[in-house]
Amino acid sequence: MKITVSVIKADVGGIGGHTRPSDELLNAVKKTVKNAGNLLIDSYVGYCGDDVHIVMTHTKGVDNKEIHQLAWNAFSEGTKVAKNEGLYGAGQDLLKDSFSGNVKGMGPGVAEMEFEERPNEAFTVFAADKTEPGAFNYPFYRLFVDALSNTGLIVNKSLAQGVKFNIMDVEKGEIAELVLWQDKPVLEAALMYPGRYVVSTIYTKDNEPIVASSTDRLHNIAGTYVGKDDPICIIRTQKKFPATEEAGSAFNNPHYVAGNTRGSHHMPLMPVKLNSAASIDYCIPIVEALVFSMHNGKLVGPFDGFSTPDWDYVREVATKRALAMRSQGFIHPATLVPAELEYAEGYNAIIDVLKSKMKPFGSKSQGMKKGSYEDPD
Ligand SMILES: [Mg+2]
Repeated sequence: MKITVSVIKADVGGIGGHTRPSDELLNAVKKTVKNAGNLLIDSYVGYCGDDVHIVMTHTKGVDNKEIHQLAWNAFSEGTKVAKNEGLYGAGQDLLKDSFSGNVKGMGPGVAEMEFEERPNEAFTVFAADKTEPGAFNYPFYRLFVDALSNTGLIVNKSLAQGVKFNIMDVEKGEIAELVLWQDKPVLEAALMYPGRYVVSTIYTKDNEPIVASSTDRLHNIAGTYVGKDDPICIIRTQKKFPATEEAGSAFNNPHYVAGNTRGSHHMPLMPVKLNSAASIDYCIPIVEALVFSMHNGKLVGPFDGFSTPDWDYVREVATKRALAMRSQGFIHPATLVPAELEYAEGYNAIIDVLKSKMKPFGSKSQGMKKGSYEDPD
């Protein structure tokens, strides 16, 4: 049976800042999804920080208008509540006034894939907040390229053959297929810069979809900064795919990602429990693991992948790394490079003052002889 799993997410308002949606907002989204009749086989609604995610199973294929419309309507209903309640950033990820057939480019993030369901279909949704799509570059690399992180790359026949990555250039909106193992250095060169090149999809050599990830960058869509483009992805697991625990462990070394407070800093990506609020300790980036089983499109789960005691230790590691980075304040690399600063308008205004004070190096006013490095007059 061919099933489509569609995961669509958006931030339409948070309590007292970019923390988490209100219960009423969530109820409005849930109610809309529940009233979809027989459009869906099954669904789940949850949140990661201020982002609400809708997991839907159906037989309509990817990029389906009815499915996208349903998600749009659900987020619109959530926005109404957010406005009534005075939530912060109410409707911030809904960039257009009316729906036009596909939510891609309209603000919400989308990860979806259609596949022939296995008898024991297993997949995990990783949802992140306070960061960007490139935050998944490092865990995907560990999972599909680095045998030191994933022994499955040696002992699993399918994975040992290598997989196919589709890499998106988020600035130009172009996509390249890179095939392992021959394209390994090229893939590494791309993954090196998560702000520019992100993983869109991953397939086996025989074209079975393994990974689908959201790749929208809101500030490119909107032209100006409107909110962090927090990513979400689906990873199919078990049998010819990575084991669920291999996928989870790719997140056990909290790596530094862009985002956080004002979307302008680097901090480590901390694995957290399902339906966690964002931290008000400078918005440490967070990621949740929604582990599902599925049969005939019916979901069992999600099991909370990062809920076991070992992840408490990883959270401690992340917290220590976060505090270490914050200890150097605004000095780069604690902050992003100017081109990536999301509040660039404010940064540009202040740097313009600096520019206005600039004079050619070596001019009299600086007390230096032009073209020399001698002591001032
Ligand atoms: Mg968010």
